[in-house]
Amino acid sequence: MSEKVVLVLVDGMRPDGLLQSEHPFVETMQREGTCYLAAQTVMPSVTLPCHMSLFHSVTPERHGVTTNTFTPQVRPIEGLIDRLDSRGKKCGMFYNWEELRDLYRPGHVHETFFVNEEKQNDTDPIITDKAIEYIKAEQPDFVFLYLGETDSAGHGSGWMSAHYIETIRTAMDCTKRVYDALPEGYTLIVTADHGGHDRGHGNDMPEDMTIPICCIGAPFEKGAALSGGNIIDIPVTIAKLMDVDPVKEWEGKALHIL
Ligand SMILES: [Zn+2]
Repeated sequence: MSEKVVLVLVDGMRPDGLLQSEHPFVETMQREGTCYLAAQTVMPSVTLPCHMSLFHSVTPERHGVTTNTFTPQVRPIEGLIDRLDSRGKKCGMFYNWEELRDLYRPGHVHETFFVNEEKQNDTDPIITDKAIEYIKAEQPDFVFLYLGETDSAGHGSGWMSAHYIETIRTAMDCTKRVYDALPEGYTLIVTADHGGHDRGHGNDMPEDMTIPICCIGAPFEKGAALSGGNIIDIPVTIAKLMDVDPVKEWEGKALHIL
């Protein structure tokens, strides 16, 4: 299999928030793809530790990043981007939270675009436009598109508040635009790093730990609603889709591929 993959991550998006948004693209994902709507993230359910797990397929206990301040790994594990790059795959990163620059080692990414969500408004659509432009121009093997505004809405107005749900709708507008722009041979994976409750997250309660993972593309069963799934399974799945050997320390297992 040598599929190309676009991974869209909506920071802080709970599966029940996704459903409650009633965005038409949610139904598209459920009809056209395989969805895990009770997948789990890792503890602490905090953005940078969860992203480190997403890109290194181990728990925070193993990679050692347990807060939103990056610290170099003590026993380094090769991450998804570094592995894909070393196998000749072209990777792009588009994000609006700067800490994510540490998810890969310098020199391993083909293109990156960053705007600061804390200093500008409505940045999710801006980075989405850039990612779409890049996909069309370069047909890269892997693109990570991180949409950070849903988490900010959760902290500002509360998880499951009207503003939070509205921000998920914007994120789904962005995701649908990416999906509609994808050439043949791409799989789209849509997920979140963690959920939230009240105006925060970081605990081991289900509201914080449960995330959606939806995979849409030829290698995935249409209309499948599956149980299980973990954030550390995502890099293993992506490597398998791209016919890249996974890093031996990775602990996740591939999601269901046809
Ligand atoms: Zn947060």
